[in-house]
Amino acid sequence: MAFEFPDLPYDFNALEPSIDAQTMEIHYDRHHRTYFNNFVAAVDGTPAADQSLEQILANVSSQSAAVRNNGGGLYNHILYWNSMCAGGSSASAELESAINSTFGSTDALTEKMTQAGLTRFGSGFAWLIVKDGELHVTSTPNQDNPLMDVAEVQGTPILALDVWEHAYYLKYQNKRPDYIKAWFDVVDWAKVSARFDAAK
Ligand code: MN
Repeated sequence: MAFEFPDLPYDFNALEPSIDAQTMEIHYDRHHRTYFNNFVAAVDGTPAADQSLEQILANVSSQSAAVRNNGGGLYNHILYWNSMCAGGSSASAELESAINSTFGSTDALTEKMTQAGLTRFGSGFAWLIVKDGELHVTSTPNQDNPLMDVAEVQGTPILALDVWEHAYYLKYQNKRPDYIKAWFDVVDWAKVSARFDAAK
C-alpha cells in the first residue's frame, strides 16, 4: 500500500496559546515528516510495504528498529494531531459516563494522564486506551505505542499526549507540567469519543 504524508487538521497557530505556531510547524513539518520519510524507506521493498500501519505495528517485534521507531512515530503523531483542536471540544455522554465509572471523574482522568506523562522518563507518550472494552491510562517510551506487540500494556489508543521535549521545549523549556496542563485546554474530546465508540 502507498503510505501518504498526513495532513495537519488545522493551521499551525490554531492551538495557541497552548501550543505555539513555531512549535507546531517544526513538529509537524520536520519531526513528523522525518518519521514518515524514514518509515517509507524502511518498509520499501519488504512485505510490510503491503500491510497497513496498524498491522505492521501489531507485529513490530519481527521488524527492524527503523520500522519500530519511525512507524511508531508516524502513527503516534497522526493520533496526537487528531487529539487536539482549537479551543478543545466536549466528550460524548457515553465517553463521559465511561470516564466517570472508570476513574471517578474527568479531573481524576486528567490527573492520571498528567502523572503518566510526568513519570515517563526521557521521551515518550501518555495514552488513554481501550482494552477489552475498558478505559486505561498508560505510557510508552520513545515512539512505541499500545498497538505494538512489545508494549507493556496493549490496547487501542484513543488519546495521545506527546511528552517529547520537541513537543513543548520552545515555549515551556523544561516545564513539562505546564505544557501538559495547557494541552488539556485543546483536547478534542469529540474525536476521542468517536474513537472510543469504534474501539469498545
Ligand atoms: Mn513528537
